[in-house]
Amino acid sequence: MTAKVALVTGAARGIGLATARRFLAEGWRVVLLDIDGALLDAAAAAIAEPEATLALICDVSDAAAIRGAVQGAAARFGRLDALVNNAGIAVFKPILETTPEEWSRVMAVNLTGPFLATQAAAPIMAENGGGAVVNITSISGLRASTLRVAYGTSKAALAHLTKQQAVELAALGIRVNAVAPGPVDTAMAKAVHTAEIRRDYHDAIPLNRYGREEELADAVVFLCSERASYLTGQVIAVDGGFDAAGIGLS
Ligand code: NAD
Repeated sequence: MTAKVALVTGAARGIGLATARRFLAEGWRVVLLDIDGALLDAAAAAIAEPEATLALICDVSDAAAIRGAVQGAAARFGRLDALVNNAGIAVFKPILETTPEEWSRVMAVNLTGPFLATQAAAPIMAENGGGAVVNITSISGLRASTLRVAYGTSKAALAHLTKQQAVELAALGIRVNAVAPGPVDTAMAKAVHTAEIRRDYHDAIPLNRYGREEELADAVVFLCSERASYLTGQVIAVDGGFDAAGIGLS
């Protein structure tokens, strides 16, 4: 049987790298895409499966670059079955201190990137009867909180984009879902989660802990698999119960 092919954006570290590893463990070929060439080289060397992987430097907010990367992926492996729009950036600042440049960059990477990548990937997926897209949103896009005006808004919009894409791309045999992670202790979280934020999450999450990269990767790969064949248009919070618990009253 021909191996399936997944393209994961922001795959050089964190949740994206764990997702790439999970796909490989399940026998997929994986295209790792990232803006950071040095990180990408280190990730590809750590995975050490050159026959099954392709690493491409690309900024997901650059329309021409992402189109070229998707075509490069298809040229290398002959097909594309899954796209994981995982690349993202976080700016945690109060509304009055968030600059127009920060706002625009967060929207460009977190929202426009998935729009562009899906637009580029869908026709190639359709050539083999369809596929699956997973957008990585956030619990910050499900519930409002301080400091997340740009980040949370970008993720809420990405959740809606997920539904738009699911409705329209169903005709091409493409399912589109989102995973909304709770806090995961990646480089991103280390950069923006203060001690206060960490305490708040600990108290508000019924499972009383951060998620692990692998727990997110499992959900993503499941959504891309045939086991999720009737699942589309959903935003699934993988968050230790944070969203279900509302504001975390004891
Ligand atoms: P991370 O910062 O560890 O990894 C993100 C990767 O994306 C990096 O390798 C980075 O180089 C790459 N990237 C950034 N901008 C890019 C661009 N323009 N084009 C291509 N690649 C780019 O972050 P992470 O925590 O693994 O986050 C992965 C996703 O999960 C993000 O979308 C993030 O918003 C989301 N998320 C993370 C958390 C968390 O607590 N870590 C919680 C909720 C949602």
